[in-house]
Amino acid sequence: MNIKKITLTFLLFCTGIIFSQTDSGEKTNLKIVKANKDVYMLKGKGGNIGLNFGKESVLMIDSQYAELSEDILKAIRQISKKPIKMLINTHFHGDHTGGNTALNKEGAVIFSHKNARERLAGIVNSDQKKIDDSALPMVTFTEKLQFHHNNETIQAFHIENAHTDGDVAIYFPKSNVIHTGDVFFNGGYPFIDTKSGGSVEGYLKGLQKIKMMANEDTKIIPGHGDLGTVNDIKFTINMLNDIYKQVRFQYTKEKSLQEVIGMKEITSKYDKKGYGEGFISTDKILTTIYNEIKKENGPVDKQSMEERLQDKYKQQQKEKKDN
Ligand SMILES: [Zn+2]
Repeated sequence: MNIKKITLTFLLFCTGIIFSQTDSGEKTNLKIVKANKDVYMLKGKGGNIGLNFGKESVLMIDSQYAELSEDILKAIRQISKKPIKMLINTHFHGDHTGGNTALNKEGAVIFSHKNARERLAGIVNSDQKKIDDSALPMVTFTEKLQFHHNNETIQAFHIENAHTDGDVAIYFPKSNVIHTGDVFFNGGYPFIDTKSGGSVEGYLKGLQKIKMMANEDTKIIPGHGDLGTVNDIKFTINMLNDIYKQVRFQYTKEKSLQEVIGMKEITSKYDKKGYGEGFISTDKILTTIYNEIKKENGPVDKQSMEERLQDKYKQQQKEKKDN
C-alpha cells in the first residue's frame, strides 16, 4: 500500500476536519463525516453537503456558499480526485446553491426541481437576487429522477410544499442514506419558507414520507444539524404535531398570535433542548404555525348556538317573504 492509498484509506474511515480560511479572514470549519459506505456529509457554513464517492466520479448534493467553494473543492479533493460529474440542488436557497457556478466550472451537470430553478432564475417572485446563468441547474424534473452512480440506483424525489415548493430529497437504497435537504433540521425548529411555497402541512407530510422510507439503520443527512437517524425524524414529527395541536387549541379559544407567543409552556419541552437557539427562534416557529392555522380556518366562529338558530330563522322568514 503506498502513501497515497494509506492517506485515502485513513480519510475514508475517519472523520476529516479541514480548517480553512475564507476571503473575509474568518475561519470556517469544514468537516467531512462518513454517513454510510461511500456516502459522506460535508458540514461547513450553510446547508449540509452530501457526497457520493464513486470509482469513476463524484456525485454531490448541494453546494453551500460561493465564498467557500475553493475550500470545499480542496476538502473533496483530499478524498477523491475523480471528477464531480453531477450536482443535485435540494432547493433554491442560497446556502445550498451558492457554489453552483464553481461546480459548473468543474464540469458538473446541475439538477434540481423545476420550481427551484425558476426561483433561482428569478422567474417566480422570491427574495432571491437574480443570479448568474452559470449557477442555474441544467436539468430539471417535477416528480422524481433516478441517478445511476457507483453501482447504485439513487432516487431523487420531490416533496410537495414543504420547506419550499421545489424541494427534493435523495435516497441511496444500497448505502441506506437519505439526504433530506431542508425538509429536516436536526436539533432545531425548522424553517418553513411559506413565502416560497412551503407549508407546515407539507413539511409534516414530507417527514412522514422520509420516515416510511427509512429503517433503524438508515443514516439521515439533514439540511442543517448533525447526521441523524429515523428516531430524530420521529422526534421532529411528534414535536411539530404537538406544537400544532396546542396552538390550534389556543386559536379556537380566540387567543391572538402575541398571546400564543407568550405561552412559554407550549414549547418549553423543546426549548430546554435548545431548539429555539438555532436559525429559527421559538417565536418564529409559533408564528409560522399560528399563521397557517389562521389561513386554513379563517376567523374563529364567535356565534353561540342560539344566535346561529336565530340567524337561520331570520333567513327562512326572509325567503318566505321573497317567495
Ligand atoms: Zn433552505
